[in-house]
Formats: sequence, C-alpha cells, structure tokens
Amino acid sequence: MRYENYWLSTEPVEPGPPLPGDVSCDVAIVGGGYTGLWAAHFLKEESPGLDVHILEADYAGAGASGMNAGFVQMTAGKVLRRMLWYYGREKAGGVYKSVARSILELGRFCKRNEIDADFQSNGIVQVATDRKQLARIQLQVARANRAGAGAFDLLDAKRAQEIIGSPSVLGAIKVSGAQVNPHRLVRGLARVVRSQGVTIHEQTPVTTIVKNGDKWEITTEHGTVTASQVVVATNAWQGTFPELYARQYPIWNYLMVSEPLTDAQLAKVRWPGREAVANSLSFSTAARLTPDNRVLWAGGLWYRFGDRETSRAHERNDEAFGLLEESFRGFFPQWGDVKFAYAHGGLISWSHTFIPQFGRTPSGMIYGHGYTGSGIAASHTGGKILRDLVLERQTEYTDLAFVTVNQPKFLPGEWGNKGADYFIWRQRVGDKLPLMLPYRAALAPGSFFKRHSRSGR
Ligand SMILES: Cc1cc2nc3c(=O)[nH]c(=O)nc-3n(C[C@H](O)[C@H](O)[C@H](O)COP(=O)(O)OP(=O)(O)OC[C@H]3O[C@@H](n4cnc5c(N)ncnc54)[C@H](O)[C@@H]3O)c2cc1C
Repeated sequence: MRYENYWLSTEPVEPGPPLPGDVSCDVAIVGGGYTGLWAAHFLKEESPGLDVHILEADYAGAGASGMNAGFVQMTAGKVLRRMLWYYGREKAGGVYKSVARSILELGRFCKRNEIDADFQSNGIVQVATDRKQLARIQLQVARANRAGAGAFDLLDAKRAQEIIGSPSVLGAIKVSGAQVNPHRLVRGLARVVRSQGVTIHEQTPVTTIVKNGDKWEITTEHGTVTASQVVVATNAWQGTFPELYARQYPIWNYLMVSEPLTDAQLAKVRWPGREAVANSLSFSTAARLTPDNRVLWAGGLWYRFGDRETSRAHERNDEAFGLLEESFRGFFPQWGDVKFAYAHGGLISWSHTFIPQFGRTPSGMIYGHGYTGSGIAASHTGGKILRDLVLERQTEYTDLAFVTVNQPKFLPGEWGNKGADYFIWRQRVGDKLPLMLPYRAALAPGSFFKRHSRSGR
C-alpha cells in the first residue's frame, strides 16, 4: 500500500519558485487551491489590469483541491435541509442554481482550456443502504422540489441495483453532477491563471497578515507582500490567522484507491454508467471508477487531532483506512479480492452551518472557506463571490446565502474541540442506530404525530 495521493501519479508536480523578495501588488491571495485560483481567474477576467499575486505554502493544489474524490456535486443533503431551515426557499434555491451553473461551467472551462481532467457529467447516484437512509433521501427529494432545485425520481431497489450492482442498495436517486480528476483540474486551473498574468509564488507559507494604514502587509520567510486587498483562501488552515480562527474547524477525511481492476473483476459488479455513487449516511462513503478502472472509495468517519491539528502527519490514518476497507467489502461483497494500492487523507474545512462562508472580517480581510467536504463546484461559485467582494460591488453573487447569512463561530480552544468530538460521536451513533420511528413518521413527523394525537383523543 502506498500512503500517498493517487492523483499525483496522473500528473507529477515540480513546485514553482518562492516569493523572490518584497513585492507590492493590488490583490494578494493566500492559498493556491480552487478557491484562491478561481478568485484570481475571475478577477483577471473582469479587470485584466489588476496586479494579482498568489502565495501558496506548498504547490498549487497541494491541499484538498489536489487530493479529493473528484465528485463535482451541489452542496446536497444536510446542507439543503439547513439552508431551507435557516434561510428559506428563495435563498436556498439561489445557491443551488449558482452551484448547478458552476458544474456546467467547469466542464466548459476544461474543454475551452484543453485541461485533460477527465471531466464526465454522468451524474451522481445517491443510494440508501438501510431504511433510515431511504427515508432520508425521500425527504431530500421533497425538499429539493420545494427549493426548486430539480425534480427527482426515487428509484426502488431493483432499478437502483441496475445502476449500481451492490446487493445492499435499497433505493436511490440520481442527481446531476460530474466526476473529475481533481489534481489535473487544479493544476490546469493554475496554468490558466498564470497565463492570465497572475504570479503564483509556491513554497511560500504566509505567517502573518497585518493591516497597516490602508494597505495589507503579508509576511513570509522570503519577503513581505504589500497589497491593497487580501483574500484568505487557505481552507482548513484559515485558523493560522487569528481573525479567521473560530470561523471554521479543520477535519480529517480519507480515501483509498484500488489496483486497476481486471476485466473479470469489473464484470462482477453491474455499473454500466460508471456514475459516482454515495450512500446517505451522515458520514457518507462514496465510490467511483477512475479512467484506468481503479475503484476509489472515500469518506466515512471524520477525525480531528489535538487542538485543530493540520500537520500532514495525519494524512496517514490506519484506523480510518481499516474502517473504509470494511465498509467497501460490505458494499461490494463481489469484490472481496480487490486490493487497495493507495490510501491518503486530507483536510476539510467544516463550517458550523455546513454552508460555505464568504465575506469580509471587521478589519477588511476577505475570506472564503467552509465547504464541509463539497468544494469542487462551490469554490467555482465562490471565486465569483470573492471577485465581487474585492471589486467592492454588490451583485447576485454577493447576495447569495454563502455571504449574507449568519455565520456562527466555533468555540475557541478545548470547548470547541469537545464540541467537535460530541458532533462526531452523535453522528456516528446516529449512523449505527436503525430507524426508531415508524417509516411514515420519519418522512413527515409533523403530520404523523398530529394525526396520531388526534386519533388518540
Ligand atoms: C478526503 C477528501 C475528499 C473530498 N472529496 C470531495 C469531493 O468528492 N467533491 C467535492 O466537491 N469536494 C471534496 N472535498 C472537499 C474539496 O476538496 C475542498 O472543499 C476544496 O478543495 C477546497 O478548496 P480550497 O482552495 O478552499 O482549499 P485547499 O485546496 O485546501 O487549498 C488551500 C491551500 O492553502 C495553502 N495554505 C495553507 N496555509 C497556508 C499559508 N499559511 N500560506 C500560504 N498558503 C497556505 C495550502 O497549501 C493549500 O494549497 C474533499 C476533501 C477531502 C479532504
């Protein structure tokens, strides 16, 4: 087993040079993942004369952007429920439409710029493997229809197993979405951004960001960048900067990639459309095939270490890999002989509401983070939001719930860590417990209990 990022084997990386010394510019962007790069891309598209510099601690795409599972999806499930609950139908629908547009635009972007990122819009199949999940996806269908986020069909076990031949599948919905090689996407995006005139300084960790008069001073060990505007796009590392510390929480999540499957192995599982597949647990696990016929199995339990640790030492987690392998064998019993070749983890930026957050801190620092594990498409929308925040204009993007909604914070220090532990414990127990309520009550608790209390009187 190689404890490294499988996607790196599809395109090697030679990190670019660090910041050459002190620099002055219009806009400094800290972090060279999707968020920082899309912000730079849309800014240069709109204002080609702006001098934009990106400061990246490692290489562009070294964070979650270059190592994720490659599901290009809307922020579904819990997020939709929360958005409807907190912000109502109109705001939730607005976010869904923008992110859906981003999915389409991502495919076009790759084509136009000849980025060979294996972008495939073949949809995402959300499956249920127990009755509780079945109720959950039925509720989601109803909510999505209410939010105007599309009309979905709930497929029964037989139809669902024609799409994905796992005997544990009891039902499914197919939603729009795509798959991509995330590493080639972020590396291709970095090339496009450079060709637009943006300078990316790799191997340049930022240590402090301080406001001095009307300028920002961004300090690194190689020199200081003085900029009129600063965008902080370091995802789960946002806590490096005190003003952003409590706005998100760094969580570790893992994935495994098998050896290429033989024709005989491929023939054992029906999967004609090769869609991405995810179950409906709180800590959902998800599967997809790579173009070279490996099966990728991702997700499962969330981990946090120490006091919000972000050290790359946690990219290897044998317990997480053991649990992932166990759930894989349960979902695909036909693939008992499939061997995993790669196992690796990365950092998710968890926002308190599960909804991505964009905005400006009281001192004027612009930020974007909190995708909570679904950032490929949302960061594309996020790039447009960041552009408009930098250009200080109010648009349909700065009006999105990602910006305008209340953004509760995590408690600092040990209280915040204990809160994270409690959340993980509660979700884990919830995933293990069977459906406690009658099925109809789980689907519509309000009307079920009203009817039963009336008939009891
Ligand atoms: C295991 C896993 C699977 C996932 N699967 C999916 C999926 O299938 N679909 C999906 O939509 N999303 C998925 N995600 C989430 C998705 O990858 C992220 O939401 C997205 O990549 C966030 O992009 P970003 O640019 O904000 O962050 P990142 O890509 O993490 O970029 C942040 C960058 O900031 C840099 N940085 C950090 N500190 C500093 C500093 N002090 N100075 C300078 N630079 C710094 C880092 O090196 C990094 O390159 C997954 C995440 C994980 C961990």
